[in-house]
Amino acid sequence: MYKERESLPENVRVIREKPLEIRQENGLRQVVTAENTYGFDGVFILRDSISPGQLVPGLEIENNHVRVDRTMATNLPGCFACGDVVGLPYQYIKSAGEGNVAALSAAAYLDTKKREQQ
Ligand SMILES: Cc1cc2nc3c(=O)[nH]c(=O)nc-3n(C[C@H](O)[C@H](O)[C@H](O)COP(=O)(O)OP(=O)(O)OC[C@H]3O[C@@H](n4cnc5c(N)ncnc54)[C@H](O)[C@@H]3O)c2cc1C
Repeated sequence: MYKERESLPENVRVIREKPLEIRQENGLRQVVTAENTYGFDGVFILRDSISPGQLVPGLEIENNHVRVDRTMATNLPGCFACGDVVGLPYQYIKSAGEGNVAALSAAAYLDTKKREQQ
C-alpha cells in the first residue's frame, strides 16, 4: 500500500490493490481484491495502531516511546507502562520482565492509596 519505490529482488511482485477478503475454500487460501483473486501460502496482516500519546492524553513520550522510570511508572500517577511501548529492544523476555515490575508497582501504588484513605 506504500507509494515509495522499493528495491526488491526480481522475483518479488508488489500488488497495489486493496485487499477485500482473505478466505479459504476447498483447501485453497485466497486474498480477494476488487480486481483479482490471489492464492497464498502465508499472510501477515499489518494493522493500524494508535500512538501512546493519543491513547492516554498527557502521557509523556520520549523518542517515540512512553517515558517510564525503573518502576515502570509513567508521568501520570497510577499509570504504568511496559514492553515494546516503552522502548527497544522489542523482545518477549524484556516485555514480560517489565510487565512483572509494572504489575508489582501498580499493586504497591494501590496499596499506598488505600492506606492514605484509612
Ligand atoms: C514477526 C515478529 C517476530 C518476533 N520475534 C521475536 C522473537 O523471536 N523473540 C522475541 O523476543 N521477540 C520477538 N518479537 C517481538 C515480540 O513479539 C514483542 O517484543 C512482544 O510481543 C511485545 O510485547 P508487548 O506486550 O509489549 O506488546 P504486544 O505483544 O504487541 O501486545 C500489545 C497488545 O495490546 C493490544 N492493543 C494495541 N492497541 C490497543 C488498544 N488501543 N486497546 C486495547 N488493546 C490494544 C494489541 O492487540 C496487543 O494484544 C517479534 C515480533 C514480531 C512482530
